[in-house]
Amino acid sequence: HCGFIAIVGRPNVGKSTLLNRLVGQKLSITSRKPQTTRHRIMGVDTRDGYQAVYVDTPGLHIEEKRTINRLMNRAASSSLTDVELVLFLVDGTMWTADDEMVLNKLAKSQLPTVLLVNKVDNVKDKHELFPHLQELASKMEFVDVIPVSAKHGTNIDAVEKIVRQHL
Ligand code: GDP
Ligand code: MG
Repeated sequence: HCGFIAIVGRPNVGKSTLLNRLVGQKLSITSRKPQTTRHRIMGVDTRDGYQAVYVDTPGLHIEEKRTINRLMNRAASSSLTDVELVLFLVDGTMWTADDEMVLNKLAKSQLPTVLLVNKVDNVKDKHELFPHLQELASKMEFVDVIPVSAKHGTNIDAVEKIVRQHL
């Protein structure tokens, strides 16, 4: 089976670090240039008889304000139609207005979405996380919520497991 898995989130939440964890040495395609195609392919994982194509979806990969404004005018779900699963990455130590914008778009898309709370290695007091997570959970239903550390590899196996289930 083969399918598109979208990694979405505002800049600096750890998308590239997560991708490197997920594809590791198996990385076969990367692209750094912005493209006008529906998806920007970030990497392909072809382990264990499955193929996961990790993509960065224009409109949800938010790098700069101008891009945000332009993409905001598009239909929220139009570029996400062939995505099997969305990995919505947030930084467990910081919540911003850009996270909120991404969340609102995802809620409209109605795609199966897993919330990945990254950088848990940096969260001193786990209770600090709850106000943000509660807000997130009240706006859309997630397939699962997984605390991860892309940097240290914590819980990446759980992410791979849920990805395989959706291919
Ligand atoms: P992107 O902009 O979403 O692609 O984010 P990057 O992958 O470039 O990561 C942004 C910064 O966060 C980098 O300095 C990473 O080293 C750091 N980072 C990513 N994941 C983690 C994590 O799990 N824990 C910690 N402490 N830092 C992380
Ligand atoms: Mg990046």
